[in-house]
Amino acid sequence: MSAQTGNEDVQVWIEQDLCTGDGLCVQYAPEVFELDIDGLAYVKDTAGELLQSPGERTAVPPRLLLEVIDSAKECPGDCIHVVRRADDVEIAGPDAA
Ligand code: SF4
Repeated sequence: MSAQTGNEDVQVWIEQDLCTGDGLCVQYAPEVFELDIDGLAYVKDTAGELLQSPGERTAVPPRLLLEVIDSAKECPGDCIHVVRRADDVEIAGPDAA
């Protein structure tokens, strides 16, 4: 096992109220983020299905973790939250330590 163990247990969600709709996250990780017809970004589940309830969480595929973390860091709305499922600690996003 590598030091990467545990990446599967990272989730991401978007605070749609703050999303500017610029689409930056979709450029970083189109498998995880998508702009809906309301012009706001939402996350997709691992089957690629758009989760249209505001604030809904999805698992981050380990191979996309860096892209998702970069999205959270660069998000102009400061509204992408990357959290550890086990204890809800935010590892990237506006509430990260
Ligand atoms: S990067 Fe942030 S503000 Fe921009 S579309 Fe994605 S969630 Fe919305």
